Amino acid sequence: MNVHEYQAKEILARFGVKVPRGKIAENVDQVREAATEIGAPVMVKAQVHAGGRGKGGGIKFCKTIDEAVEQGERILGMTLVTPQTGPHGKVVRKVYVTEALDIAHEYYLSVLIDRARARMTVMASAEGGVEIEKVAAETPEKILRQDVNPAVGYLPFVGRKIGFGLGFSAAQVKAFTKMLGAMIRCFDECDASLVEINPLVTTPDGELYALDAKLNFDDNALFRHRDIAELRDLHEEDPLEVEASRYDLNYIKLDGTVGCMVNGAGLAMATMDIIDLAGARPANFLDVGGAANKESVTNAFRILLSDHDVRAVLVNIFGGIVRCDRVADGIIAAAREVKIEVPLVVRLQGTNAVQARKMLADSGLEVLVAEGLDEAAKKVVAAIEGGAA
Ligand code: GDP
Ligand code: MG
Repeated sequence: MNVHEYQAKEILARFGVKVPRGKIAENVDQVREAATEIGAPVMVKAQVHAGGRGKGGGIKFCKTIDEAVEQGERILGMTLVTPQTGPHGKVVRKVYVTEALDIAHEYYLSVLIDRARARMTVMASAEGGVEIEKVAAETPEKILRQDVNPAVGYLPFVGRKIGFGLGFSAAQVKAFTKMLGAMIRCFDECDASLVEINPLVTTPDGELYALDAKLNFDDNALFRHRDIAELRDLHEEDPLEVEASRYDLNYIKLDGTVGCMVNGAGLAMATMDIIDLAGARPANFLDVGGAANKESVTNAFRILLSDHDVRAVLVNIFGGIVRCDRVADGIIAAAREVKIEVPLVVRLQGTNAVQARKMLADSGLEVLVAEGLDEAAKKVVAAIEGGAA
C-alpha cells in the first residue's frame, strides 16, 4: 500500500526525520490559510501517488501568498500526468503547502529490501532529485549501498560510511546517521517495504531535510497497523483493483488485451507467459485462489469483463482443490449478469472437468474449449485477430 507525501512525512517525522513544515489543503481557502500560517515563500505540492510531479507541473515554488493561492487553484482538480501516472494521469484532490527551503544540494536516500540477499539495504546517491533509475542505469558507481545485518540491526557505522561517502561534513554525518536510524526504525516498526527520501537536501547553513518522501507498506502486515491502513486512498487505486480486493481476489490490471482468469499464482504467471509467446499481451493478472467458489468466480468474471481493454478472455483453471464444475457455474452466472461481447476461451482440467465442459456446452454460451495450454493461448490470440479483421 502507498500513502501520500504528506502522510509519509508525518509518519517519518514521528520517528525523528526532519521535514519542512507543511499543511494539507483541499480548497483554495485552505491554501491561503496554510500559506499565511507558514509564511511565504512556500511550495505548493500536488498530492497523488506518483513521483515526477515536479516535471508534470504539480510542484510550484511560490514567492507570495497570492501566488500560492493562484497555483493552488490551478493544481487542485487538475489531471496531473507524470512519467509515473501513465498517460491518463491522476486527478489532484489535495495539495501540500510547505515552507520553501533554500537548497544547497539534493541527494537520494532509501531503505528497501534486497530480496536476493534477504535483508534491508540502504541506497544513497549524491545525484538526488532526478530519476534514480537513470543514475542506476548510466552511472551505477554513483550509488552507494550498504546492507543492514538483521542479526544486529542498524549500527551507526552504516550511516557514517554512507554519510562520508556522500561527501557530508562531520557535523552533517552526525545528523545523517540519526536520520537514517529513524528511517530504518520506521521501516521496521511500520512493516514498510520502501522508505524513500528523494531529495534529501542540505540547506546553505548545512542542515539536512527530507524534502520529499515515499513510503510503501507490506499489505500482508497491514492488519497490525490499523492507523496506517486508514490512510489508504481509494481514489489513487485502479477501481477494478479496489473492487477485486473487496472479494479477496488477487487482481492486478495490466496493459494488454487478453483478460485472464486463473487459479494459483504460478499458473497465472505461466498463462501470462504463454499469451505473450502466442503474440498477445495479458490485460491482467488474476488468481482466483485455490478455494474459488461460484461467487468469487462470478465476481472475478464480472471484473474482467468490465475492463474495456479486454478483447478476449482466457479461463485457465486446474481443478485441484477447486472443482471445475463450480468454475463453470460461476462463468454461467456471470454471463447472466454481464453480457459477454468478447470471445471466451476456456481450459478446464482436473476435478469434474468433463462435467464442467458439458455444463458450458449446455449453457448456450459461445465458448471455445481448449485442452492444452499452448492450444488455449493460440485460440485466444486467433480469436482477437479474427475479431479485429
Ligand atoms: P517529485 O517531483 O514528485 O519527486 O516531487 P519533489 O517533492 O521531489 O519535488 C521536486 C523538486 O522540486 C525537488 O527535487 C526540488 O528541486 C524542488 N523542490 C521541492 N521542494 C522545494 C523547496 O522547498 N525549495 C526549493 N527550492 N525547491 C524545492
Ligand atoms: Mg521527489
